Amino acid sequence: MADPVKLDILAIAAHPDDTEITCGGTLIKMVQRGRKVGALDLARGEMGTYGTEEDRDAERAEAARVMGLAWRGNLSLPDSAIEYVQENKLKIAQVIRDTRPELVVLPHWEQRHPDHHACSLLGYDACFLAGLKKINLGGEPHRPRKIIYASYYRNLSNSFLVDISDQFEKKCEAVAAYKSQFSDNNIARQIFHPGVTVFELMRDRGASLGHMVGVAYAEAFTIKEQILVDDPQTMPVRSI
Ligand SMILES: [Zn+2]
Repeated sequence: MADPVKLDILAIAAHPDDTEITCGGTLIKMVQRGRKVGALDLARGEMGTYGTEEDRDAERAEAARVMGLAWRGNLSLPDSAIEYVQENKLKIAQVIRDTRPELVVLPHWEQRHPDHHACSLLGYDACFLAGLKKINLGGEPHRPRKIIYASYYRNLSNSFLVDISDQFEKKCEAVAAYKSQFSDNNIARQIFHPGVTVFELMRDRGASLGHMVGVAYAEAFTIKEQILVDDPQTMPVRSI
């Protein structure tokens, strides 16, 4: 794993390509605003039908380059067998201490794939544990200030949307870096619904979310706490 660097934002996901598909546009937007953004993948995707581990390692490096990530790590946990256990919480907590992000992006906890569900729970616990002084981890205690949960296209109760209209094409470019999974002649493109490619899904979902707030494309997130507004008069999105 590459030597960690100090980050502003760390996105944690179970598999290579999860981050790009679910919150890639938002991460690209943050990079464009000068933030240091990193991604941690828990598994290397070796249970996927297509592509070798080496293929997928090269693909996620290329996707990271497209997005402009400052750092990308992978814990090489077993694909499709990521367990919600203390050992894995501590591995993630060590990365949080090493990279010291203010914001962490996790998968939403409602999931079809058990790895995504486990990643959501592990990530939250890791954020907490990383801040404990006496826990058996290297480095200084660090607890991210904010955790947001990326929609994985299942949950509909979003807390807020991010306008990714200007980042949408680059997001698609980052996902396209996963050639073994989503290349033109590959049936694995149709991972969500038969006959629907991941690009069609991102476009449809991104556009329908965008239309709800008056922009071309958006990504959805959930938070567990309330949103504090300073000035209701200037809140974005028209009511009528
Ligand atoms: Zn996944």
